Amino acid sequence: MIGLVAATANGRRNAKHLAGTWPDARFYEGKARVVLRRAWNECDGIVLFLATGAAVRLVAPLLEGKHQDPGVVTVDDAGNFAVALCGGHQGGANALAARVADTLGGTPVITTASDSVGFPALDSLGEKLGLRLEEGPDLAAVGAALVSGEQVGLVTDTRWPLGPLPENVVSTDEWEAPLILISDRLAETPRPAVVYRPPSLVAGVGCSRGVGADEIIDLLHRSFAEARLSERSVVALASIDVKRDESGLLEAAEKLDVPIHFHSAEDLRAVKTPNPSEVVREAVGTPSVSEAAVISSGAELVMEKRKSANATVAIGRLPVRGRLALVSLGPGEDTLVPPLARETLAASELVVGLEQYVDRIRHLLRPGTRVLTPPLGYEVERGELALAEARAGGSAALVSSGDVGVYAMASPVLELAGNDVDIVVVPGVTAAQAAASLLGSPLGHDHCSVSLSDLLTPWAVIQSRIMAAAEGDFVVSLYNPRSKGRDWQLGKVKEILLGHRPPDTPVGIVRDAYRPTQQIILTDLASLQPEEVDMLTTVIVGSTQTRVVAGRMVTPRGYLS
Ligand code: SAH
Repeated sequence: MIGLVAATANGRRNAKHLAGTWPDARFYEGKARVVLRRAWNECDGIVLFLATGAAVRLVAPLLEGKHQDPGVVTVDDAGNFAVALCGGHQGGANALAARVADTLGGTPVITTASDSVGFPALDSLGEKLGLRLEEGPDLAAVGAALVSGEQVGLVTDTRWPLGPLPENVVSTDEWEAPLILISDRLAETPRPAVVYRPPSLVAGVGCSRGVGADEIIDLLHRSFAEARLSERSVVALASIDVKRDESGLLEAAEKLDVPIHFHSAEDLRAVKTPNPSEVVREAVGTPSVSEAAVISSGAELVMEKRKSANATVAIGRLPVRGRLALVSLGPGEDTLVPPLARETLAASELVVGLEQYVDRIRHLLRPGTRVLTPPLGYEVERGELALAEARAGGSAALVSSGDVGVYAMASPVLELAGNDVDIVVVPGVTAAQAAASLLGSPLGHDHCSVSLSDLLTPWAVIQSRIMAAAEGDFVVSLYNPRSKGRDWQLGKVKEILLGHRPPDTPVGIVRDAYRPTQQIILTDLASLQPEEVDMLTTVIVGSTQTRVVAGRMVTPRGYLS
């Protein structure tokens, strides 16, 4: 819950606005000093509509520590600035300030060093990747080194898609302080150091009927200690499906707070393991459970099975999954680059795309991001480059104009990509949507898109789709409508459509939508001049229902008829 506290008329107005728009916010009416105490105990975040001086004085006696206190944001009387006053990271005040600024149309003021230089604070680094920070005494010392520009070493067992690192964070094999270590191995570190446990290990478990949870947990503890590996890196247990109802095993997984995955005897039997057992084969139909379950999970065996009276445990390490983001940039204007695209680009170590598209988003990249721009015609190469970065454990972004999934790079990349990388597709505003918005609402009823490019699709197929669209009375958005070497197709499309809809059917021609060179022509089907159209244009042909109302192209939805 976010508590809102105000002292002036303007402050109350703004507080009530937030309370009305945020489902998780509550306005504490009353004298600020009095209600703040209540809000402090009841809320995770507090927004004070007070001058910073007054806010500091009111908050000071309530402060206990950054692990307990709510995040506090103060807002000036005009609502121009939302200052993250304290609890920036752990209390969430930095994020809260951004949220307040978003709703009130102001500017967030963030003063914690790491957030303002664009590198996540040490206590949130790698959160999205599932890295877990080992509680230790050196967090503040390494954090201070980081933000003061001192060189900080980064040692990782394998590469993780961390995003671009600040210049003073240097990947190295040398264990020299100050150090950031990302490893599932138990080891002495120099000081100061912070250690993150990656989600990298899986433990295979075999057991007899009736085994107790404590015996399994004890064997796991001993095995991890012997292997010098951290249990905090365990993402899952793995076993055989006949143990699905083995209560000791289920209880052990619950106590360790990890899921358990079950594999069939058939799958386990197919795996070659170092220590097969005839006894086990006779009991459950596979010569190995713990080792085979590790390998069946896709992990590499790093410790062969260890036994107790009623259980066996083996440990494996999972391959790192890099990340590839397929990012939509919208038609051209900066304001139409989706926020999710901005966030994703800022977290990318490599950005691949056509030069003209990458140029549009260079200002969104963090220092240290590499950029590759193979020219037009190298579509598969672009996909391969981005995929290779992800396969190596990095974080890459491949950018397309409009929507990356519409006549763009998402399809070829997804045809090439295996299940060994994580892929996110960030949607965006397509050329058809952008053109439609400038024309009015031509896509207000059923519509389709057809690309007239016969580079990869035979003309006969394109023509049959135009005919089907004509018969179905779809509004048609024409992509790639006409190029220098391909100039007669649009005329043919016009002819086909004129066979099914009247000559005064509205047609919108939009060139360079949402770019400085934007041109919009509203005409009709009979008057459509193919010469006015080129490859930077989207043509939208109305259906028999589409009309021009007050100069705007409208396909009725049906409410007014
Ligand atoms: N992925 C893109 C489409 C790429 S195909 C998208 O979702 O929009 C390229 C075609 O899109 C061009 O030939 C043109 O027909 C259209 N196009 C792309 N950007 C445009 C813009 N800003 N204005 C008008 N048409 C555009």
